Amino acid sequence: MATFSVRFLGCKVSHNDAQEVREALVRNGHVERGDGADVAVVNGCCVTHEAVRKSRQAVSRAARTHARVYVTGCAANLADAFAGMPDNVMVVSRSSEETPAFVAGDVGAIGCVRADTRLERIRAFVKVQDGCSFSCNFCVVPLVRGGSRSRPADRVLAEVRRRVAQGHREVVLTGINLGCYRDRSAGYTLARLIRAVAATPDLARLRLSSIEVNHVNEELVDALRETPVVGRHLHVPLQSGDDRVLRAMGRRYTAETYLRRLEAIADFNLTSDVIVGFPGEDERAFERTLAVIAQAGITKVHVFPYSPRPGTQTAARDTVPSSVKKERSARLRAASHTACVARWRTKVGREDVVLVDRPGRGYGDDYSPWLLDGALGELMRVRGKAVTEGGILAA
Ligand code: SF4
Repeated sequence: MATFSVRFLGCKVSHNDAQEVREALVRNGHVERGDGADVAVVNGCCVTHEAVRKSRQAVSRAARTHARVYVTGCAANLADAFAGMPDNVMVVSRSSEETPAFVAGDVGAIGCVRADTRLERIRAFVKVQDGCSFSCNFCVVPLVRGGSRSRPADRVLAEVRRRVAQGHREVVLTGINLGCYRDRSAGYTLARLIRAVAATPDLARLRLSSIEVNHVNEELVDALRETPVVGRHLHVPLQSGDDRVLRAMGRRYTAETYLRRLEAIADFNLTSDVIVGFPGEDERAFERTLAVIAQAGITKVHVFPYSPRPGTQTAARDTVPSSVKKERSARLRAASHTACVARWRTKVGREDVVLVDRPGRGYGDDYSPWLLDGALGELMRVRGKAVTEGGILAA
């Protein structure tokens, strides 16, 4: 038997990949341990230069305290990202589908334990789709994860039932480009999958991790609106509010399309990703981004200062000085915080149902953060008393 630890860097899909390796090791009879484990698995991220730096740092640290380290995930598939690492580091450059069995096979099975592990987090992330067949000019994801493919609907539904039986009350459907989800042989689109997942007995809440604006169509909006367990939140990457920059990025929409498509869900809590300092982004272009964020009613913005990624169309371009990226990032984050607080204020005096996902904190139906006391994993009906810098205070 080996003892192991698993950590991930990056997005929900990375978290999901790490959990699949974790479950494969548990199934093979190995035991998870925080400190002093024999084996470490680091599921790395490469979406920005900074993400690779942090992944390398995590791997170097793990190599000093573990006999063997497996590097997995997007970063492991980026050529040379882990060059020069110590001999006890193995870089697993494989697809997300192959990686769990490979790592478990390399560590070695000690018997058929078949332990049914609950996920580490309160929310269960269920991956339904992987890869991306779009080709945004800045994005390294298609290079490291491959083209879009979907899990069969019956397997997704079985996993959701298993997670709910394990005690997860909330499920988040995740994917790299979720709107591309198709199970052609069973006749499922993402909208139909949402309706089917939502019908799972005892599932209290369902969310989507993120969706491209071109996939926010009538069929999807109807599915989101007509299924009561779906939370009133949607994360829709904008990347830029300037059409010239969007074109240079290779995105397939204009600012006007983005705004129009979101009108149908304007009452949802809308959150987004923005890349700041993309080559050619001048002050006016950045101001357009601020304006679109405001007009769309976006609250939380994940701000990514642009960094060129190897192998992409814009790998050799980085024209905006880092001091300017920093200054614009700070302005955008400040605008985002103001918008969040404004939305939180609308909750004062109103009721919401909050899933407690860490001590003293949880998220309401529309993914607004609440500050409250409750047992982890509990769904609590609360009323807003006041707003702080960190969220809504429950009465
Ligand atoms: S849609 Fe564009 S940004 Fe998103 S993963 Fe695909 S290529 Fe990357």
